[in-house]
Amino acid sequence: MAQACPQCSESNQVLNLAEFWRSLSQDAELKATLAQPPPYEARYVVSLALGAVAILCLTTGSAPAILLGVVLLLAAGGSVAWFWRESAEREAARAAWSRLLYCRRCVRQFPPDKALAA
Ligand SMILES: [Zn+2]
Repeated sequence: MAQACPQCSESNQVLNLAEFWRSLSQDAELKATLAQPPPYEARYVVSLALGAVAILCLTTGSAPAILLGVVLLLAAGGSVAWFWRESAEREAARAAWSRLLYCRRCVRQFPPDKALAA
């Protein structure tokens, strides 16, 4: 069963976006605008640095340094959670991109569940 564009109801111009994107030449204008979102690059070195400084503070023995160490440890954990969440969201966007359909007639991207049956 062919899938038709929800805007123009054409089915012969509807393609899988990923396949269409791969078929474009490298210098095509649409190659950049239709590209899959790039993978997220988590900066875990920030978390590692925070954790390392936190451990240094915790091992000094003085109360203010221990308090600072606890705060830095919480910041390190929070940054790991942040990077993990951002990475998961980006991967979901990348997976959604690979399922998108593309209408060449009205230059529109849409998920398969929004396509009309043709
Ligand atoms: Zn269309």
